[in-house]
Amino acid sequence: MRAMILEKPGVPLRFLEAPDPVPGEGEVLVRISACGVCRTDLHVVDGELPDPKLPIILGHEIVGTVTGLGVNVDNFKLGERIGIPWLGRTCGSCSYCQSGAENLCDDPGFTGYQIDGGYADVTVADARFCFPVSADYSDSELAPLLCAGLIGYRSLSMVDNDSGRIGIYGFGAAAHIVTQLARHQDREVYAFTRPGDLAAQEFALEMGATWVGDSDRAPPDELDAAIIFAPVGSLIPAALKAVRKGGVVICGGIHMSDIPSFAYKILWGERVLRSVANLTRQDARDFLELAPKVPIRTRIEEFALEDANLALEALRAGNLTGAAVLIP
Ligand SMILES: [Zn+2]
Ligand SMILES: [Zn+2]
Repeated sequence: MRAMILEKPGVPLRFLEAPDPVPGEGEVLVRISACGVCRTDLHVVDGELPDPKLPIILGHEIVGTVTGLGVNVDNFKLGERIGIPWLGRTCGSCSYCQSGAENLCDDPGFTGYQIDGGYADVTVADARFCFPVSADYSDSELAPLLCAGLIGYRSLSMVDNDSGRIGIYGFGAAAHIVTQLARHQDREVYAFTRPGDLAAQEFALEMGATWVGDSDRAPPDELDAAIIFAPVGSLIPAALKAVRKGGVVICGGIHMSDIPSFAYKILWGERVLRSVANLTRQDARDFLELAPKVPIRTRIEEFALEDANLALEALRAGNLTGAAVLIP
């Protein structure tokens, strides 16, 4: 196999050739055709998330074809195209797993964090956590649906149905997907970007945003809810100020810089601040069925697998329009 591996946080990924992995019991062997690059990958590279398996192959938006089956795999056939997401395994027995909240499992394994992921041309995955994917998308177009899309979908599902005006802070891969979903639900999207990022603002308008502006500005109208994808803690008080009484502010990222202290009065009025963590397999089934019906179109920029470091730096610099996808 060929892979880009992270040996330790803070250093660039290194190209590696190694024997192909062998699928164990319940696992599929997958020939990877595309893998999305997620903001979470940068947090792992930067050492902002605790205890990654090291060395690790990053990548949790994997599209590929099943080329091998371990014993006791009955949900996929050889040659089938599948998606592999962030949730790689759960314990199945903790109180969260037992109550339909497996995204909060006490002993989970995440793809590209504790389990080798998709910055490679081959991988193995627990078949119970893989999904069939729609034929309506190419491999590259599909990849961002598997995390950016899923997290956007789960974030938007935390917003009341009658919340018509949604603020979105940070306009990258997740935002461009959730904007299409919100428009499909007849909501208006107010898109906030890094101050002066006119390219991102133009992209947001193209995706259907009603209003675009710098994140240090107040919107012209009071918002019913806001979703923050940018990993910037100071956006939390900004978003709380922008939402109406009873409105909700949702943080969709796995890591944020510290939140500055703020006056209680901006939370007062029954405003709600909450995070969204990971995904459940039911989220994946529901969203992957819904996406082609909207239909959600993804904007991607392809990079060769060997250029994974370039893709990560483009993401860090905010130089991408849509999602970066690695092609092995
Ligand atoms: Zn992700
Ligand atoms: Zn569990």
